[in-house]
Amino acid sequence: MVDRANNEFWRDLSPIANPFKPHALPEAYIADAATADERFYVPITETVSSRPLWISPSENKWCDVLMAKKAGLVNRHYHPHEVFAYTISGKWGYLEHDWTATQGDFVYETPGEGHTLVAFEHEEPMRVFFIVHGPLIWLDQDGKSDGYFDVHDYIAMCEKHYEEVGLGAGIIKGLMR
Ligand code: FE
Repeated sequence: MVDRANNEFWRDLSPIANPFKPHALPEAYIADAATADERFYVPITETVSSRPLWISPSENKWCDVLMAKKAGLVNRHYHPHEVFAYTISGKWGYLEHDWTATQGDFVYETPGEGHTLVAFEHEEPMRVFFIVHGPLIWLDQDGKSDGYFDVHDYIAMCEKHYEEVGLGAGIIKGLMR
């Protein structure tokens, strides 16, 4: 139950009695989503890792906090679908664009775009909340497709890591909607 109101103007309101439709999936709440506990971050490249927050196999989508403790790189790839990002800390960007994102900055990457994600050296780690609609299509130096990464690869990677660090793969199943 949500905390009791003190003197908030809405203190006498009652919650909706049956908020969920019969086949609605449960909501999700994750405290301290951008935690400093590194066990929660799954290495996706040598320098960048991802804390999964929400995963939708049916939509090939996921939400995560992408983290790099120092300079980081996610190699060039193409997105057939959209990506949203909100910068929690650090400094990052894409080699292909003329902006650099820092704390508080919002980013939309359009379907049909290729990019190379870079994290800068900064006093704070790069931590970015992402909503990713997969797949990512890896690109070679000539811009040709060179493999893909989708929600199923993400799930497998996360389960393996959570098992290895002792958190247990079951946490990942609990993030699925
Ligand atoms: Fe991307």
